[in-house]
Amino acid sequence: MSVQERLQGYSGEVRRILEEAGVEVGDEVEVAAGDRVYRGILMARYELAEPGYIVLKLPNGYNVGVRVSEGVSVRRIAPARKPSFTPPPRPPSKPGLPRVYVISTGGTIASRIDYRTGGVRAALTAEDLLSIIPELAELADLGAEILFSIFSEDMTADHWSRMAAKADELIRSGVDGIVIAHGTDTMGYSAAALSFALQKPPVPVVFVGAQRSSDRPSSDAATNLIAAVRVAGHAPFAEVCASMHAWHSDDVIAIHRGTRVRKLHTSSRDAFKSVNADPIAYVAGGEIRVNAENLNPRGSEEYRFEPGFSDEAALVKFYPGMPPELLELLAERGCRGIILEGTGLGHVSNRLRPVIKELVDRGIFIGMTSQCIYGRVNMRVYDTGRYLLKAGVVPLDDMLPETAYVKLSWCLSRARDLEEVKRLMLTPISGELGGRSTPSLQGR
Ligand code: GLU
Repeated sequence: MSVQERLQGYSGEVRRILEEAGVEVGDEVEVAAGDRVYRGILMARYELAEPGYIVLKLPNGYNVGVRVSEGVSVRRIAPARKPSFTPPPRPPSKPGLPRVYVISTGGTIASRIDYRTGGVRAALTAEDLLSIIPELAELADLGAEILFSIFSEDMTADHWSRMAAKADELIRSGVDGIVIAHGTDTMGYSAAALSFALQKPPVPVVFVGAQRSSDRPSSDAATNLIAAVRVAGHAPFAEVCASMHAWHSDDVIAIHRGTRVRKLHTSSRDAFKSVNADPIAYVAGGEIRVNAENLNPRGSEEYRFEPGFSDEAALVKFYPGMPPELLELLAERGCRGIILEGTGLGHVSNRLRPVIKELVDRGIFIGMTSQCIYGRVNMRVYDTGRYLLKAGVVPLDDMLPETAYVKLSWCLSRARDLEEVKRLMLTPISGELGGRSTPSLQGR
């Protein structure tokens, strides 16, 4: 083990003192500072935490930070006790249960805090899941695998491709449903990506996340996951969707279409909503209530795997005062398509019009969505919109800006020219276009 691992998060003078004392994270140590002596377990620190402190977990369970100044001394009392966790034996599989496979990509739902050291580790083997949430054994014959262990802000087009390839492999191996555990921040993007890559799949592909980690009493991880496994294994429909709390209470989980789902709250358990569409189903009291018509049926024989995402797409939010050079810069860096998040019905400042026209003339796709989020763009109401249309901007109806960005990345990887990108962008693929308008936001 390297010193970075043995003394995770400690640097500079503090690390030197700890190294000299021959201690490592997890050891029981005594720290004497002035007339005070503390005894406890040496905790790991976050990389960005205030340096200059030694953090101990005291026998009463509280953590204390001891500021390192002159005269501090550290003594090792006992070596780290390696944590051992033997999950209870896996309950015997019940005959006849659907085979559901859980792919873990990271985020809160897939992490478990090691309270002994303060570190966070990925925890998502099938054994982990069944020992934490035994209810799952009643619902499905479960398999699980860690595909990545990253926070979702680190996802890229390449990760979408790898997730899609894994899901396709599982579909071809004959599983009855797939669950993808994912960080919540960009779950909507990945759900949209798989909605385009896995068209009319024969089994449900259900994204699931958690706003509060599984070690907190208010965690939504277990309820979201139980509903996700239920939908993956038992729903009559086979859609790429997301399973998250419908409201603050635990009793209803909403199932959102992958191209319509958006995180709308930073911390609340009911952060996820379907935009310009209703959730496709709810899970309550152990029942799946279907809430939409014409869903792709389980067992669909029209499945098409359409992988591939380009990293030459961009998503740009317009703001008052935005300099036109920003768009030029994107083109200079090789961008072949830009989704604009315009104001209101789909506008940007007139100052941007010449550069937009020039980029379109160079074969770069420019699509318009609205930063209002709810409703659809309509660029024929005001002159600004009409001029932008004339410059070649393509209005994208009620598509979510994030979904439009993901779809553009997907289109750019397969279309031969600008005309084909336009045609594909305006062809409904997975419920991303032409939803219902939301008359008002009352009650949301
Ligand atoms: N930023 C993290 C992510 O999206 C937050 C943790 C979470 O929401 O799961 O992965």
